[in-house]
Amino acid sequence: SEETLYCIGCGAAIQTTDPKAAGYTPNSALQKSLASDVQDLYCQRCFRLRHYNEIVPVGLTDDDFRHLLATIRDANALVVYVVDIFDLNGSIIPGLQRFVGDNPVLLVGNKEDVLPRQLRRTKLREWMNQQVRAQGIKPVDVALTSAKKGHSIDELLAMIEKYRRGRDVYVVGVTNVGKSTLINRIIANNTGLKDLITTSRFPGTTLDKIEIPLDDGHMMVDTPGIIHPEQMAHVLSGDDLKLVSPQREIRPKGFQLGNGQTLFLGGVARLDIVDTMKPTGTVYVDNNLTLHRTRTENADNFYTKHVGELITPPTGDAVADFPALVRHEFKVTEISDIVFEGLGWVTVAADTRVAAWAPQGVAVLTRPAMI
Ligand code: GDP
Repeated sequence: SEETLYCIGCGAAIQTTDPKAAGYTPNSALQKSLASDVQDLYCQRCFRLRHYNEIVPVGLTDDDFRHLLATIRDANALVVYVVDIFDLNGSIIPGLQRFVGDNPVLLVGNKEDVLPRQLRRTKLREWMNQQVRAQGIKPVDVALTSAKKGHSIDELLAMIEKYRRGRDVYVVGVTNVGKSTLINRIIANNTGLKDLITTSRFPGTTLDKIEIPLDDGHMMVDTPGIIHPEQMAHVLSGDDLKLVSPQREIRPKGFQLGNGQTLFLGGVARLDIVDTMKPTGTVYVDNNLTLHRTRTENADNFYTKHVGELITPPTGDAVADFPALVRHEFKVTEISDIVFEGLGWVTVAADTRVAAWAPQGVAVLTRPAMI
């Protein structure tokens, strides 16, 4: 029998039979890879993410990318690691601790503006610290910014000055965390030049390495966005992606969600309450996303009938191409967030069993309640 092969992008087992399922690779591509010396095998989705303009216009080859990581490891520099606080899990750079080497890491939580004001910022910093420590990163400090609103940019620059101690600075982050917007702000604060870098909602729009001169002859280097394969940004595009990305402070919405009830989050995700003693749920998603409650026994039919109309996004032509929702079952013992990567989360009571559905390829996870 044949050895199982795994995609080096997302880790899915490679298969050649179901184009809609994870790990699909056309047989021709598989044979070509098996015949070559370099066996870096990507599934079709990751291959497209890395190589085609339709989603990722970053002109980096794998070699460029490895070279870049090695440069950071071998440098004597401060690494500024930018994450989207609203999508912390989707912001994780796999293996970051390996390529950071011995360099200090300053953690920057961007998109601070979308989190509810009631959430204490000291608590938020502490929470972020814990989350990245679990990934093996020990940040020297945590900054919170809103690149979009221009909040706390001066504070961030002061922190960078404090920790870089006369060294270069490398800014790293996965695509879509707002790194380009942040760099633009830094440039504007430093030099008065504006919008030097293109920003957009599409992942991977940082086209080239940008070096910003610092006072003492050192450089701040903006590195290309790194692709995190499980983001919502990979299954939605354009206006649909805009519809699920919070643009302003989120207003949490409370729901009565008892056994046998399902809540649709637009047409992109759904949460079934399988078993709970306390029928409550608090939803943290973009304020304009339509939330629709129904009975679980009717949910499949409801979805097929209303997706793209009553429950959106997806909209228009995207409906036909939208990946099927995949069911993930969880049992939580403490008050927890059911997180749909890139979309938001629903806080449920302790001792609740749920089924969380997300598009094929989008991660779902649970964590102790953030708020
Ligand atoms: P990059 O891929 O990391 O360089 O991300 P971009 O700078 O292109 O930003 C991705 C998306 O996030 C864009 O739609 C930005 O408008 C948005 N964005 C960036 N920074 C912020 C922020 O601080 N708050 C909010 N709400 N949105 C932001």
